Amino acid sequence: PTEDYENLRRRIYSNTKELWYYVHHELTKVIQEDNKAEKIQTILDQIGERKRSLLSDQQSLPELDGYNEWRQAEAANVSDLVQRRLHYLQNPPDCKDARKLICNLNKGCGFGCQLHHIVYCLIFAYATERTLILNSKGWRYNNKGWEYVFMPISDTCTSAYDDKVVMWPVTYDAKVLALTFIDSISQKPKFLPLAIPKDLAHRITRFNGDPSSWWIGQMLKYILKPRQAMQKAINDTIAKMNFKKPIVGVHIRRTDKVGTEAAFHHIHEYMVHVKDYYDQLELTRPVDVRRVYLATDDANVLEDARSKYPSYEFLGDASIAKTAATHRRYTPLSLTGLLVDLHLLALCDYLVCTFSSQVGRVAYEMMQTNRVDASDSFFSLDDIYYFGGQNAHDRVAVMPNDGAYQDISFQVGDLIGIAGNHWNGYGRGTNKRTNMNGLIPWYKTADHLVLYPFPEYKQVPL
Ligand code: GDP
Repeated sequence: PTEDYENLRRRIYSNTKELWYYVHHELTKVIQEDNKAEKIQTILDQIGERKRSLLSDQQSLPELDGYNEWRQAEAANVSDLVQRRLHYLQNPPDCKDARKLICNLNKGCGFGCQLHHIVYCLIFAYATERTLILNSKGWRYNNKGWEYVFMPISDTCTSAYDDKVVMWPVTYDAKVLALTFIDSISQKPKFLPLAIPKDLAHRITRFNGDPSSWWIGQMLKYILKPRQAMQKAINDTIAKMNFKKPIVGVHIRRTDKVGTEAAFHHIHEYMVHVKDYYDQLELTRPVDVRRVYLATDDANVLEDARSKYPSYEFLGDASIAKTAATHRRYTPLSLTGLLVDLHLLALCDYLVCTFSSQVGRVAYEMMQTNRVDASDSFFSLDDIYYFGGQNAHDRVAVMPNDGAYQDISFQVGDLIGIAGNHWNGYGRGTNKRTNMNGLIPWYKTADHLVLYPFPEYKQVPL
């Protein structure tokens, strides 16, 4: 390691102690003082500043540790390998003879939800070594089908001919299987998200902090290739915007979602995190304009944001939001707008959104394919990351907890089924050993990755 790296590492150690000295001293003092509220606000502001400084230093570590080029090359290599395996799977030498999996794109939901449906089918296909056939005639975003907007998911094999089609899971070994929606299958195969392929896991975890979403992002990368006309429409819309870095992406999902599947969040709740991002960035470099790319299905949000936050520059297309807000949501026009939004959100330096929305999650998954590791570059106001219909998501205890407060007890190695993070230092979950349900100090647990022995596609060179 370089001298700079060693110095930075020591600085973080020392400044973490300094943070504690400060908090301890100030709070002990404030106990005896009058006008506590004002004093506590000052302390909070100071802690925030010191926290940003620590995080900023930590983000510099990978730039100085000497492995940055290695991480970039490795991320590109593993992504390339997955893409080549998918290409191999999707283009069998003899299509007529190949085992196949059929999925229909007729899920009555939004585009994010439909993308996740295809991702689920493609993972299923990859796990069972079947070529995925996507039936999309009568698709709500283009009546003629997926292939009229995007490149087909196979160059050579797009039909099951006249072979008999058998519905999964009635039989596993039929030549042509058809798959229903993930929400309707009762016995979920272990290879479904958030599982990742065992043969690649130890490569992915060395450059990425959230391998499950990286893996899902790779599926999106394979399927989401706009055709020329669509790409031109996207490029033309983007060309009209002043999209420049640094920039923070904000996704605000309202309309039909609010009150049914998610709570209403005020613009202020998103902007707190945007401000925090820029305050931290300004510790190491000047920021001339605090830019925000705002994507939303609420036609009034852009104007509202501009009037409430005049010191920020908001990029976004009011007409896209307007289309997304109405019954025109499922038309070809709205698809172009949504692709612009997704593409740009995924190019932002940081993303503030609600993971209850599939659009927010797709943006993050795409972000994971645009860089080596996006796992530290987002904030979700509500859910932790998940894949709709996923298998159990556990965390594993890495420190013991005695459960002396309102939290539950656990031992090192216990698996805890996770319900969510409260973003206050605690999450909620169930200890699978004791069946106790309650609060868990998040920092004493780590994500439990499920490694599944997917086929290794030895025919595709490493
Ligand atoms: P979810 O309902 O938010 O979980 O995601 P879906 O993709 O299933 O459905 C939401 C639909 O609302 C999308 O497919 C879009 O048509 C529209 N929508 C939501 N947010 C946005 C946005 O930020 N921009 C655009 N253009 N459309 C959006």
